[in-house]
Amino acid sequence: MTPQEAIDMYEPVMPSPYIFRREALRTYILAGRGAITARSEISRKRYTFKFSRPAHKLGGKQALFVRLVTGPDGETTFIGTIWPDGRFAADRKRGTFQAKAAFAWLWQQARLDGGNLPSNVAVWHEGSCGLCGRALTVPESIESGFGPVCQARMMKAGV
Ligand SMILES: [Zn+2]
Repeated sequence: MTPQEAIDMYEPVMPSPYIFRREALRTYILAGRGAITARSEISRKRYTFKFSRPAHKLGGKQALFVRLVTGPDGETTFIGTIWPDGRFAADRKRGTFQAKAAFAWLWQQARLDGGNLPSNVAVWHEGSCGLCGRALTVPESIESGFGPVCQARMMKAGV
């Protein structure tokens, strides 16, 4: 998939006001409790993805689940798993091909050094800390997606 094809996949929405620093996207996803909305500013298509960690390790590994928000009341569909080596494995059956490809592309961009999202893709979070889920109120925290304590914890963990 080319970057343009990926950008063209996103659908329109009124996103939350919490846009954050794009270089923070990878860390925010890996924190494992956040949700993001990504929108192409060209096609105006968008997707909302939600992250969670399973209570138990899968095959001895701490995995990260990726779900697609599919309805206005927050209904979600599981679309895949991010493994500790950083690989995103899309679920073979659940979720649309487009949603899975859109996330795979977004994740690939986020993993590049410093984040490499093109300026015509905007990404928002829902105003809560990516690690503990508490509401973020300080502008610096909204930009990073983490409260100060959780930010320090993520830095210490080297994520
Ligand atoms: Zn926090």
